[in-house]
Amino acid sequence: MSSVTTGKGSLSSHLWDTSDLYRNAVMQLSEAASVMKLDPNIAERLKVPKRALIVSVPIRCDDGTIRVFEGYRVQHNMTLGPGKGGIRFHHEVNLSEVAGLAMLMTFKCSLVGLPLGGAKGGIRVDPSQLSRQEHQALMRRYTTEINMIIGPDKDIPAPDVGTDSQHMAWMMDTYSQERGFAIPGVVTGKPVEIGGSLGRNESTGRGVVYTIQHAAKYLAAKGKPAPKIDSSTTVAIHGFGKVGAVAALELYQLGCKVVAVSDVSGGIYNKNGLNIPHALEYINRNRTLEGYNEAERISNEELLALQVDVLAPCAIDGVITEKNVHTVKAQILAEGANGPITTEALKALEDRGAFIIPDVLCNAGGVIVSYFEWVQGLQNFFWSEREVNAKLAEVMENAFKKVVDIRDSYNCGMKTAALIAGVDRLDKAMRLRGLFP
Ligand code: GLU
Repeated sequence: MSSVTTGKGSLSSHLWDTSDLYRNAVMQLSEAASVMKLDPNIAERLKVPKRALIVSVPIRCDDGTIRVFEGYRVQHNMTLGPGKGGIRFHHEVNLSEVAGLAMLMTFKCSLVGLPLGGAKGGIRVDPSQLSRQEHQALMRRYTTEINMIIGPDKDIPAPDVGTDSQHMAWMMDTYSQERGFAIPGVVTGKPVEIGGSLGRNESTGRGVVYTIQHAAKYLAAKGKPAPKIDSSTTVAIHGFGKVGAVAALELYQLGCKVVAVSDVSGGIYNKNGLNIPHALEYINRNRTLEGYNEAERISNEELLALQVDVLAPCAIDGVITEKNVHTVKAQILAEGANGPITTEALKALEDRGAFIIPDVLCNAGGVIVSYFEWVQGLQNFFWSEREVNAKLAEVMENAFKKVVDIRDSYNCGMKTAALIAGVDRLDKAMRLRGLFP
């Protein structure tokens, strides 16, 4: 088992350090810390989460049996404000992975300038094996179990892999029932009818597309080969869910040839571009792309290896690794998911001149509109979707500019630049607040 090397020696981190996702997040932080010459005392604190809660979540299943699931909520850093981050339902979720994801949320919120810290939650469960009633029971009991560390001023969950706005509605209702009045600010990503924000569902995918457009413009301005993000541009999207499906549709509407998309059942491919609205209709009816026969079937591995201008891994972490990175040919890689490209793979891609849009920037649209939702709820004053989208575009543009400016001045990779942007703001805030006691 490895340990986290810190400024003044080595901290035995057997508790946190067991997942690739966490190890990758720490490696990326270390790289940023060394490039920006971060005070080792600050790095030491950022390498481990502030607090974690592990809970057992018992539910009565439809067949009358009781099953107990393991749940987590990790708060990585709350210097800038309340914790913020999604709740994941996935069969491989564990404490270390949730801690790594919480760390990424800290950097993401800081980088895009939100007054929020980083947190994450999860339940180790295969969501496809649960009925709707079992989902509800699981979410409600989990909320009760973590109730003491969440709240509109403390830590505000949101959807993540395997959860959606309905889960947030149950969470908000459970938290509110326990206090006796409606408290919509405890979660974001809620349905609009109970205080959600217009544009929240589409925000992550939309943000992915904004960053792809900025990347193309930035590369063109540097005199590098750059796609035009029009009918001459080919795109492949790994993951056709809450993030990938929206990004695919937006890019299709911009005229790009989205030649491949995929989900757990595998991928669909058409070299002239897929009919994305048609594929979306199919998935809404059938839940997966299984059986879709209007295009060629390909595997997820084949999709990642396509000769395209833009590849957006929007599903889950660890899909491009040192094992398959040599097959990846895309020029721009947009990390729509959290941690889809491992540190080794990232280095190999940057060495061959690929342009990476790092997760903490690329998929930040979700948490940005979550922040807008929280603010709208606190003020009881709601914005039009046009206003939400315009403000999202502005925040994303500023964040993109901040990252490329750092990339240019330090002459480093985009991932390192994004982390430097996030860590620099935290560094200043942590110094100003000082170390208690
Ligand atoms: N789960 C999303 C993320 O990883 C959104 C988090 C949020 O809105 O709080 O960024």
